[in-house]
Amino acid sequence: MKHHALEETEVAGPPGHWSITLFAAAMLAVLIAGCSAPARQSGTPLFSFLQLNDTHVDADEGKDGYEKANEKARWLIEAAASGRYFARPDFVVGVGDLIHGERIENLGPDLQLLREMLKPLRVPFHPVVGNHEVIQQEGSAKHERAYREAFGDDRVNYTFTHGGVLFIALNNSGACCVGPAIVKARNDWLRRELECAPGVPKIILCHIPLIPLREEAVLAKSFGFRSYMDHDGETLKIVEAHSDSVIAVLSGHLHLTGVVQRKGIYHISIAGTASYPCDYALYKVFADRIEVSVRQLPSRLVTPKTNIHGRPRHPRDFVDGQHKTPRQYIAGRPDERAFTIPLSRNHAVEHHRPLTLSLSPSDGEREYCRCGVLTKR
Ligand SMILES: [Zn+2]
Repeated sequence: MKHHALEETEVAGPPGHWSITLFAAAMLAVLIAGCSAPARQSGTPLFSFLQLNDTHVDADEGKDGYEKANEKARWLIEAAASGRYFARPDFVVGVGDLIHGERIENLGPDLQLLREMLKPLRVPFHPVVGNHEVIQQEGSAKHERAYREAFGDDRVNYTFTHGGVLFIALNNSGACCVGPAIVKARNDWLRRELECAPGVPKIILCHIPLIPLREEAVLAKSFGFRSYMDHDGETLKIVEAHSDSVIAVLSGHLHLTGVVQRKGIYHISIAGTASYPCDYALYKVFADRIEVSVRQLPSRLVTPKTNIHGRPRHPRDFVDGQHKTPRQYIAGRPDERAFTIPLSRNHAVEHHRPLTLSLSPSDGEREYCRCGVLTKR
């Protein structure tokens, strides 16, 4: 697994974008780093998807939520629907903290507003439970009610497939603070889903990262909450036992952007739109690689005061050994904002037929993959 350093360059496009064209990225990587050319940088993607997270949509906007949170979410949904700023994705994953919530009586109205916002999207939307959807109360029927009403009972822990990749949406929203029975149920479900699709390329979606995305002691301070990672080592162990087929774990929650490789798995956390640096991520999946591009919202929607890893929330900004400036600490290095995941022989997507799907009669856009209905080659 090789990680190719890409340079950060401004190009024409929506103001505020830090991303660069993939061709320019490849050329710069070759010229500047002197490294070998990345795996074939051509061809048509098999499919693409957008990751949005930590949008903190708030029906009670202006009280205690994030500045311009609703406007930012609307912009991104409209951008995905129209294809005006980037090619229309085949689907969207919403990796948690889609709403602000905070109090149980807010969950319903916030989720209702989010559903209204999502109406123009026209491509499938796959939500993941974040701590703000359930006020940290993973596994509580009372706290999950509003989320289930908004998205369906089968959208808490679930899987779907696209183009031969199995996506596993895992609810670890109570990662810091729920009891052992809840953690065991979560892990048992995850283990089953992984075991029932051996050799199928997989991407895990979970709101809270499974490993620290910055130096742990620094991150604990800058984030200020114990949930800077999922401290249940068992979840990580289960995932790593399947490192031959798990390509990546996509998360949010930290409100910073970063990527760390561990045992061949890419752990990618995106800042999300509500707080600075106001990021989202685009994934282009090819047979032999996945190209990842992190982008910032247009400058009129970028809100530096919402930075939670520096001033004004803290009296100082933060850096760590791998991130020498506060901007790198919060937004990631250039090679954390545009990079290619080469797919190994085991991961290669072209060798996998899409899994057998059973479509919900109530919603033709939804794809379901159930343990036991997978067709093995
Ligand atoms: Zn969160």
